[in-house]
Amino acid sequence: MPGPGEYRPDPTVGIKRPEDLPKTKVSVRSRTYRRRPCPHCGHRAYRDRLCRRTLHDLGNTLTGRPRDVVVLYSQHYCTHCRKYFNANMSDLADPGSHYTRRVVDLALRLVVEDGLPYRSAEWALWRDHRVFVPYATIQNWVEAGGEKGEAADRSRPSRLGTLRLLGLHRS
Ligand SMILES: [Zn+2]
Repeated sequence: MPGPGEYRPDPTVGIKRPEDLPKTKVSVRSRTYRRRPCPHCGHRAYRDRLCRRTLHDLGNTLTGRPRDVVVLYSQHYCTHCRKYFNANMSDLADPGSHYTRRVVDLALRLVVEDGLPYRSAEWALWRDHRVFVPYATIQNWVEAGGEKGEAADRSRPSRLGTLRLLGLHRS
């Protein structure tokens, strides 16, 4: 992966009309199951319906094509708790996020480890990875990243420590 300051030709240079930009490549991931254990009580709950969500992923830097991931997932209904829940897809993205975990991780790395300002990180993500993330969103991720990252994934416990070390973890 190229460093943040490295020169790379921009495949979209000279393009003036949005429709001439390289087309987004869409790949489909499936997280559909017939039955899933309820996260509250463990009851094996049947699928109620199928849903989909779109996530922006890191694009292809060679072709300049952005990449979206469409996740097809099952929603289940627990007859004990009388609650709906979705099939687990936390390996792909956090709940409610419009970006894959890979995008969030890279954005955090650019800011926390490479020390890029938020606006530069926004530009680097677009220039090098063809994914547009508003810098305010990156800022939210960095400020929330410590606690969330630790709670969601214990294999990366150093994030909050790193943020504190760099003085980035402030409200
Ligand atoms: Zn339940």
